[in-house]
Amino acid sequence: MNQILSNKYSYLCNFFETAQKQNRLFHSLIFHGSNQYMQYLMGLEIARILNCNEDGRSDCDCQNCRWIRENKHPAVITVSKIDNKSDLSKTVISEEQINGVLDTLINSSDYHRVFIFCDAQMKKLSDEEKREYFEFKESGYSLPQSDDEDKIWYPSGLNQNCLSSVAANSMLKSIEEPPSNVTFIFLTNNKEDLLQTIVSRSQAFYIPDVKNIVYNTSFLEKFFVDYPKFNHINPLDFSSFLLKYQVENNFEAKYIIDCIQQYLLNIAKQNFTLHFNNKVLLNMIYKDIEKTEEFKKMLDTYIKEQIVYETLAFYFTGR
Ligand SMILES: [Zn+2]
Repeated sequence: MNQILSNKYSYLCNFFETAQKQNRLFHSLIFHGSNQYMQYLMGLEIARILNCNEDGRSDCDCQNCRWIRENKHPAVITVSKIDNKSDLSKTVISEEQINGVLDTLINSSDYHRVFIFCDAQMKKLSDEEKREYFEFKESGYSLPQSDDEDKIWYPSGLNQNCLSSVAANSMLKSIEEPPSNVTFIFLTNNKEDLLQTIVSRSQAFYIPDVKNIVYNTSFLEKFFVDYPKFNHINPLDFSSFLLKYQVENNFEAKYIIDCIQQYLLNIAKQNFTLHFNNKVLLNMIYKDIEKTEEFKKMLDTYIKEQIVYETLAFYFTGR
């Protein structure tokens, strides 16, 4: 997988590479989380390792790898309200559009066909988005549409406004029983934004938004030192420490939970190099990272910070 993605998401990239080699990658994947650009590139990279003529290494220059990076591979298709349209609807992925996609599956193909479903628009990017965009552009990646002056094609999350239940339902059968060598990938903020019938037929992966912020996570060491065990840690001591640390340092609660996610990502990274095959531990770390996202969402619903910290502390210490 691409080096930039591997550095950010080593555990996920390793999972996808291993699953692809063992031929047990699901044919319908959901990526959820707040950064659709990273999700989109993860989708392209999965398409690349599925189609590579060689061993799928990050710098492979075979024709399939090159075409996928350049976003002009005939079998790797982005489906959004502004990409690969056969009709005039501008605000949704239409039923007609989905049917057009599915019609192409009638013919067999030598390629592994990958359909990346997302919302998308041409927009001016924020500084952070620009940084990510140029980082990948410099390593040879192109987006489905060229830049239009200062506007750049940018993916966003699917929801039921841009992918209606009628359109989504029209592809359920194909998701359930796809022809061989076809993978569907859906990008979204929350799994809940997609039709439950798609979610239940797919394998979902939380892609954390790893910013280039330096997180000072040393305050967590005394609690996570024996991870995944939390022996002798009193959940109420843990939660009141987090709250006190946040208040004393004038941090936001989200930053504290970001630090916990970052700490877990670092444990995952270390375990890849040390114990390459420690799948049970890596699965647990992955679950915990996904779970911490739920605690962040609790903050958005104005649940008191103290309650969020207590829920988090009881989760970790109560396993
Ligand atoms: Zn290749």
